Amino acid sequence: MNRIKRALITGSTSGIGLAIAHQLAVSGIDLVLHGLESTTEGDSLAEAFRKQHGVEAIYVQADVSQAENIEKMMSQITEQVGPITILVNNAGIQHTASVDTFPPEKWDKIIAINLSAAFHTSRLTIPAMVEQGWGRIINISSVHGLVGSVNKSAYVAAKHGLVGMTKVTALELAAKGVTANCICPGWTDTPLLVEQFKAYAQQNNTGYEEAKQGLIKAKAPYPDFVSPADIGQLAVFLCSDAAKAITGTSMPIDGGWTAH
Ligand code: NAD
Repeated sequence: MNRIKRALITGSTSGIGLAIAHQLAVSGIDLVLHGLESTTEGDSLAEAFRKQHGVEAIYVQADVSQAENIEKMMSQITEQVGPITILVNNAGIQHTASVDTFPPEKWDKIIAINLSAAFHTSRLTIPAMVEQGWGRIINISSVHGLVGSVNKSAYVAAKHGLVGMTKVTALELAAKGVTANCICPGWTDTPLLVEQFKAYAQQNNTGYEEAKQGLIKAKAPYPDFVSPADIGQLAVFLCSDAAKAITGTSMPIDGGWTAH
């Protein structure tokens, strides 16, 4: 059977999502790139992918904090290119504050973008995956889907929530050729961490680069950031036939952080 392999990677204009998109394209998978950037910027990124990798690539813009935006985005994708059979839920944001000072609107936004959006994209893509008897759902959770850290209540709740939702999705789809897994990265040098680097530098009276090293040392025995490309390669493996029996898992790629 000729399988459709078309991936939607949410939040794929930067950081981990962009690296996953590159690795999937290298392995010949067609792409739907997504982000908050203007369609002019997104379209030129898609064109660069088409030229560099010879795959089909389009860009869709949507704020995934609202269910109705996701519904519109999924209809637009189906109309423009057809069904999604590889779904990478990657879009995410962070905010740090203690539980008692955490702004409720930030809590709602983190849960909406980091957790509920993955529910909405999943519910809207599963029927096409089941119909073709093959599909892959990869949820980008975090070490914070497995352990906690101070000042990250909403993020840790959302990422643990993704781990739980992934288990249920996997159980429901295991006999239908569709797998669902989480990838759980540790420190990865992306725009998401900039505010944390700045805060660490200020609190510890260090430079920006020293702050980066300080944060790594505080959590992980491996003395460097996780490479976004390595996360992309793990996603490629999860899309391969060799990974057909890997489902419901949460895979740390965290320099040993969660081995403590
Ligand atoms: P990033 O800021 O580069 O990527 C986040 C992406 O999400 C961006 O492209 C952004 O535009 C998109 N996004 C944010 N809010 C959105 C919204 N409302 N609607 C649509 N798109 C939105 O940071 P990153 O580190 O590459 O983050 C990607 C994922 O990896 C996130 O889910 C993050 O939680 C997770 N993660 C990151 C790290 C790390 O150390 N950087 C570690 C573990 C997990």
